[in-house]
Amino acid sequence: MRTAPVVPVLMYHHVTPSKGMITTSPENFENQLAWLKRHGYRSLTCADFAQHLNGHPVAHKSILITFDDGYLDNWVYAYPLLKRYGFNAALFLVTSWIGEGPKRQHLGQGVLPETPMHHECTRRIAAGRIDDVMLRWSEVEHMRNDGVFEFHSHSHTHKRWDKISPENRLVHVARELDLSRQTLQEKLGEVSDHFCWPEGYFEQDYIPIAQQAGFRYLYTTTPYGQNRPGTDPAGIYRASVRNRGGKMFGQRVWIARNPMVGPVYNRWRLWKRSNRKHE
Ligand SMILES: [Zn+2]
Repeated sequence: MRTAPVVPVLMYHHVTPSKGMITTSPENFENQLAWLKRHGYRSLTCADFAQHLNGHPVAHKSILITFDDGYLDNWVYAYPLLKRYGFNAALFLVTSWIGEGPKRQHLGQGVLPETPMHHECTRRIAAGRIDDVMLRWSEVEHMRNDGVFEFHSHSHTHKRWDKISPENRLVHVARELDLSRQTLQEKLGEVSDHFCWPEGYFEQDYIPIAQQAGFRYLYTTTPYGQNRPGTDPAGIYRASVRNRGGKMFGQRVWIARNPMVGPVYNRWRLWKRSNRKHE
């Protein structure tokens, strides 16, 4: 078996027809999955991906599909499409945002619930109307039992930790991680050692706190590197997936996993970014 030198981790937030930032339309999402399927890709579980980082071989064309936060549109659109194409994904939940109540309708089931754009989701969450836009535990349970989504922690409240006063910050981080673990344990009967930083924001001194809380695999929003055997599990790279069709998406995946072209591309993007900052 040819094994993968690099496994790209794809990062999604929303799959919805509502236009906005960090959103992929259902049509483009389907095209992206179709591209992956046509080109023989396999989606890994987080446990498979951990094996890859630890030096155990995984299939040549492997990817890890991840979602952040836990929006309702992940149930309405992403879940049925992933299932249709035979892929699985990991979802990092903001555990205090997940609601109670019956499952809502999803693609293929008649009248679908409203799934607003990102800014509107943020507005409703701030206004206390979290259930309008976020998943419920019943939906989480259904997707989990179906083997399409696995669920991990993305903190308890998604608070920007850098906005907390420095003297309280580390205590707060430890408490959030603990609450998030407790919630997953209570609701799902288990909690993993995979964790995604809220807003991708973290300082070096948060890492030992996350590790002490029981998280070993820490997912960032940094795209400028490749996940190879031996890559530090405390700094997993993820590539944000834009709202683009199958072909453009395919080129991005090809570059991200190419052991020669990927690092050159990443250096070029970093260089471009540093030039923008100095303008
Ligand atoms: Zn997030």
